Amino acid sequence: MRQRIAVVGSGPAGLTFARVMHRHDHAVTVFERDPAPDARPPGGTLDLHEELGQRALDKAGLLAEFRALSRPEGQAMRILAPDGTVLRDWRPRRDEQANPEIDRGQLRDLLLGPLDVRWGRGVVRVLPGQPDGVRVEFADGRAEHFDLVVGADGAWSKVRPAVSAATPHYSGVTLVETSLDEVDTRHPALARLVGEGSLAVYGVNRAVVAQRNSGGHVKVYAQFRAPLDWAADLDPGDAAAMRARLLALFEGWADPVLELLRQGAEFARRPLHVLPVAHTWTHVPGVTLLGDAAHLMPPLGAGANLAMLEGAELAECLAAGPADPDAAVRAFEGRAGARAARWAALTTAGLERLVSEDPAEAVALFDEVHAS
Ligand SMILES: Cc1cc2nc3c(=O)[nH]c(=O)nc-3n(C[C@H](O)[C@H](O)[C@H](O)COP(=O)(O)OP(=O)(O)OC[C@H]3O[C@@H](n4cnc5c(N)ncnc54)[C@H](O)[C@@H]3O)c2cc1C
Repeated sequence: MRQRIAVVGSGPAGLTFARVMHRHDHAVTVFERDPAPDARPPGGTLDLHEELGQRALDKAGLLAEFRALSRPEGQAMRILAPDGTVLRDWRPRRDEQANPEIDRGQLRDLLLGPLDVRWGRGVVRVLPGQPDGVRVEFADGRAEHFDLVVGADGAWSKVRPAVSAATPHYSGVTLVETSLDEVDTRHPALARLVGEGSLAVYGVNRAVVAQRNSGGHVKVYAQFRAPLDWAADLDPGDAAAMRARLLALFEGWADPVLELLRQGAEFARRPLHVLPVAHTWTHVPGVTLLGDAAHLMPPLGAGANLAMLEGAELAECLAAGPADPDAAVRAFEGRAGARAARWAALTTAGLERLVSEDPAEAVALFDEVHAS
């Protein structure tokens, strides 16, 4: 008899897992807390690496569709000093497919395809080792049982406590996100400043990063070292107050860079949390974790990629019909954990250099990545 498998979370990890299982004719039940796919803005663009996210899409049979949607030109990167001096202006070759960008909403829709997600089913607790399998308890008071529960429910995972006592801690860096719409027609000077891909401006312990998404939408991130409660006293809906706080923090920076912050209509404060580097757990039969639930790390272009590849790999090893599925999950956890630990160390060191006392470190990091 086939295993009863549940996936908690319909982010990149959960959907890739479910989609690869579906490709191999294995049904899994996906539970998602959001009431609908478009219940929240999907977030900024993602660059999918050839060896990680794109490999996962290949395993899902979706690589060609991804190539049709993605934006190789989005890999372009300009780096400025706070006074506006251009330090780097890198453009990819036309056929460069190493890390093309895709909007998160487009990626979600691509992965969703034929999948049947149970929307509005937030999980509150997972109890392994029950007589009827692993018990999954929902916010609506219901409960269901499965042979395997895959926790793909992100940073504040409700599945994680079933295998690990670890909780995310504050990295010391806060990010404030805003965005500009129809940038080419409404803000042509800013459109030229950002270019086809990303713009990054590095100062002492702070940075402004702007990323072009599709449809003339630009996401702007102010990043800086600050206490966890920075601007926590502000009403989250008070854009004018947050804008003023940010402009004071970046005082003296070149006017076009400040304009990116001035033109933002809404601001979201996101203190960056991380799990300990090399977070592992003692294997618990019937429960495993994927993506941010397993290894929340600084957002330096790896998290969604790892989440997707893990989803695809776990699905492939279960779909192969192993004689001992639990041993297969345990072996998967070992391999995925070792790879994630390498990336967690790299991105943790990367964040230290990108938001640091010495802005030259950020430029040096860019040069190292592009030389390799
Ligand atoms: C600003 C920023 C930029 C980034 N850029 C990149 C990038 O360019 N490339 C890259 O690879 N990574 C990037 N990342 C990291 C990436 O966003 C994450 O690593 C990735 O989304 C993790 O995927 P996931 O599926 O594990 O979790 P998530 O994307 O967090 O998805 C989890 C899902 O589970 C659902 N959920 C949560 N709790 C419950 C519950 N209790 N019950 C049911 N459902 C639940 C959520 O609603 C969500 O749909 C970035 C992150 C940030 C913050």
